[in-house]
Amino acid sequence: MIDYQLRTRLVAGEHAIEQLGTLAEQLGARRVLIASDPGVVAAGIYEIGAQRIRQAGLEVLGFHQFAENPSTEHVQAGVQVAQDFRPDLLVGLGGGSSMDCAKGINFIYSCGGKIADYWGVGKATSPMLPLIAIPTTAGTGSETQSFALISDAHTHVKMACGDPKASPAIAILDPILTCSQPSSITALTGIDALTHAMETFVTNKRNAISDCYAREAWTLLSRGFPRVVEEPTDLHGRSQMQLGAAFAGMAIEASMLGAAHALANPLTAFLNVPHGQAVGMMMPHVIRYNAPCVESRYRELVELLPEVSASDRRIASEILADRFTHWLHIASMATTLEELAGWSSTLASSSSSCAAEDLLESMAQMASKQWTGAYNPRPVQTDDFLAMYRAARSA
Ligand SMILES: [Zn+2]
Repeated sequence: MIDYQLRTRLVAGEHAIEQLGTLAEQLGARRVLIASDPGVVAAGIYEIGAQRIRQAGLEVLGFHQFAENPSTEHVQAGVQVAQDFRPDLLVGLGGGSSMDCAKGINFIYSCGGKIADYWGVGKATSPMLPLIAIPTTAGTGSETQSFALISDAHTHVKMACGDPKASPAIAILDPILTCSQPSSITALTGIDALTHAMETFVTNKRNAISDCYAREAWTLLSRGFPRVVEEPTDLHGRSQMQLGAAFAGMAIEASMLGAAHALANPLTAFLNVPHGQAVGMMMPHVIRYNAPCVESRYRELVELLPEVSASDRRIASEILADRFTHWLHIASMATTLEELAGWSSTLASSSSSCAAEDLLESMAQMASKQWTGAYNPRPVQTDDFLAMYRAARSA
């Protein structure tokens, strides 16, 4: 059975941000609170958005006191600002952190309580403010999702809070906004989007809707990624990445994620590895693990890839695993645990003689508790996660 409703209006194209004021007016806004992290402010992008709101004759206020992986404390600070300003429209302008922070503020400002009350699906208790999402990276797909990822400020547990009412009313996709990001962010967010397309295409919840979005996301992202890594100002490549990331976000809504995302969160928690690096590095190992279950699905993805040699007779999972490793290489990202800066520094500070193996076991325990693992096409237990971490340790 399929129960699907497109909730987010997409306004995409070069200079689409020019329409922000008009779109805000269309949503009936008079007072607009924009969540943008300090990096977005420093890049001058927050001001571009704020100006468009002012030019439409609306009041605008910025909230910037948050960072990457927004925490419950960041959200609470934003709620305080919202309670003083009384907005009737929220805008998340920035990367996934800005959009997720805006959604987190919306949950509490609109429905009361604390973030943990909305951990899970469908916990919002009343209508929420309309939200316009404007991504400045091409990665998380938060702009087309009903989920906000908020970290507990004390335990660092990432809480995925999802409700249809939290979905952005409008996503503005302006590829020009993504041109100013550092090349490392282009790489990290791009690889993340590629893993979203790949994982959503094979989860045990996959369906005709997720297939549509995952296929097109994969087609766009696999073409756009090498282009933007090579030439950051390639606007066509930027457009491919931005639309691909948004479609991948829609695929996540329809079919969730898989084991690579379960493996990634412990790497972030234990070794402070950025999400895109963590999930990209683990993806080849997950592909090999899943191959017995979904080899024919992987074959479909290989056929959508550009530049696969007709004489390449390897099985699809090997071609895909190799392609991920290639993408990591061209983006100067680590392909093994031992290449990570956090690996050696974490082990150096440990007193245990078998510290590395202890670390892998702790991470595998944590991976087995991640919700995304439940949707992996091949059932995955703690020992399986441990085997994949061991395989990723060195080349
Ligand atoms: Zn991800």
